[in-house]
Amino acid sequence: MSDKLRKLVGDVPDFPMKGIVFKDITPVLADPDGLDEAVEAMAAPWRGAGATRVVCIESRGFIFGIPIARELGVGAVLVRKPGKLPRRTRSLEYALEYGTDRIEMHEDDLGPGDHVIVIDDLLATGGTMAAAVKLAKSSGAEVLGVGFFIELGFLDGRAKLGDVARIEAVLKY
Ligand code: AMP
Repeated sequence: MSDKLRKLVGDVPDFPMKGIVFKDITPVLADPDGLDEAVEAMAAPWRGAGATRVVCIESRGFIFGIPIARELGVGAVLVRKPGKLPRRTRSLEYALEYGTDRIEMHEDDLGPGDHVIVIDDLLATGGTMAAAVKLAKSSGAEVLGVGFFIELGFLDGRAKLGDVARIEAVLKY
């Protein structure tokens, strides 16, 4: 099943900096069957799981998260970089290798009674997803699990997601 998808994902050495092998998902998006298969494979583990919302991480998490929400018949919630969301937000600062970063979501987008999955394109060190999970939980929502198109297993991002009940990924490297 994932052979076609694996062939479509490109490796770009030394992007955006030396030593990083960047996983290029744009050929998957450009291939109608590939895109369909990727979204279907990411949605499949969550069918019947009882999600009320799909939380999508800026920006490549939007690409997959929104069609997954459609597949599951629920709404999508955006987690964005600071200053992008127009209404009142809740925000969370988290540590990077050097310095800190901040993410935000609309204050009233989630609350107690919501059961969410959080979607991003790729799991590397897990820092981004761990922060998004914490932000979602700060609303009172329950996080059912998280989903990725790609997992870079050698970076052990799962270690940062220790308290997450389910971690799903379509392609593992
Ligand atoms: P992390 O917080 O380290 O798990 O990084 C995850 C975010 O960085 C994801 O949103 C990815 O889009 C991006 N990212 C990190 N490493 C790569 C890579 N090797 N190829 C493509 N995207 C990456």
